[in-house]
Amino acid sequence: MSAARVALLSFHTCPLAPTGEGKAGGMNVYVREVSRNLGRAGVPVDLFTRSHAGHCQGVTNLEDNVRLVHLEGGPETAAPNELYPYLESFLEGLVAHARQEAVRYRLVHSHYWLSGWIGQRLSSRWRVPHVVTFHTLGDVKMQAKAGERESDQRGSVERELASGAHLIIASSPHEEDALVHLYDADRGRIEVVPCGVDLSIFKPLDIGEARKRLGLNGERVVLYVGRIEAIKGVDLLLKSAAIMDGKDSLKVLVVGGDATRGGEVRRLKGLAEELGIGQVMEFVGMVDQSLLPLYYNAADVCVVPSYYESFGLVALEALACGTPVVASRVGGLPTVVQHARTGYLQSWRCPEPFADSLEVILGSKVLRNSMSREARKRAEGMGWEMVAEETSRLYDSL
Ligand code: UDP
Repeated sequence: MSAARVALLSFHTCPLAPTGEGKAGGMNVYVREVSRNLGRAGVPVDLFTRSHAGHCQGVTNLEDNVRLVHLEGGPETAAPNELYPYLESFLEGLVAHARQEAVRYRLVHSHYWLSGWIGQRLSSRWRVPHVVTFHTLGDVKMQAKAGERESDQRGSVERELASGAHLIIASSPHEEDALVHLYDADRGRIEVVPCGVDLSIFKPLDIGEARKRLGLNGERVVLYVGRIEAIKGVDLLLKSAAIMDGKDSLKVLVVGGDATRGGEVRRLKGLAEELGIGQVMEFVGMVDQSLLPLYYNAADVCVVPSYYESFGLVALEALACGTPVVASRVGGLPTVVQHARTGYLQSWRCPEPFADSLEVILGSKVLRNSMSREARKRAEGMGWEMVAEETSRLYDSL
């Protein structure tokens, strides 16, 4: 195959941003890991993102074959929903950069709708195929009814991409169906490639050792990991913990968000007090991803109570560590969690069924051990190198 480079666009957020707080989460991990693994597989990648605090303009090598290029793209502190007016100038900056370096790209792969807007125009100018991965879809987020609002621009750009991109990579069959039914996309141009996990980091460790390192004693440990925002549904976890039998011997760890400043974390702490579980809760704040395996391994069960997840990397990371998962049956989560085998999926957003599932898992060591074995088995074969291999095969098919 030709060694011409792939232009990968992650306009609004840097793949190296620390994850677990604000808007930096699964997509950052995805873009970072897929590009690294493409590079390792011999597919040269230039990854373009906008300049931000701590990273001025310039080119950094992420791996052999993988370069990260920061270009100017609006005020450094702007939120994603303020960035639409800066797409045009980022596009022009990118075209100028490629011209100056005399690099030709074989295709453009955009991540999220903002990058998609740029990618669609680059694809026409350079006459190369355009691949889009949406990560989340505006209409689906609104349908999830977590109180979020999306701009009209987002809807119209997503529709333009659904009909105009040469290939859409969806991370679950749910996303594929949403694209077909809500966006009128042609199923023939969608390929489902589930997300991956770094199996060399996320793996079973000695549970006693993990607990010791985290200062945990004999408690039954329930874990939440993720950004802290309304769509993650952390309220439901708190309400479930509050009605569980023997809740006083529980420890509920909430990893992610800003434990000191974040408004949503403050609200959740208040809710925990109201529910009488202030002592049970520990808001840990954001943890570097390299330390997360300790948390997953120290936990008896991981909870993903989201209103919507296009995939749900946290669930897969927990399974890779051999930790059963209780999750809401939404979006991509049923692709990750096998009901009654590696955890439980709940269709109702009510505390009772979540509390029941947690009690069942916490109440039986035999069940936990069996789910744990099945969980790791499920995650094996879902390494990022597989995702990159499949992505590279799709690039070649264009
Ligand atoms: N994460 C992290 N530190 C934290 C909390 C989360 O590194 O304190 C990472 C986590 O390992 C996962 C990602 O953030 O890879 C969250 O991805 P997910 O798909 O679960 O949710 P999203 O952020 O895409 O909504």
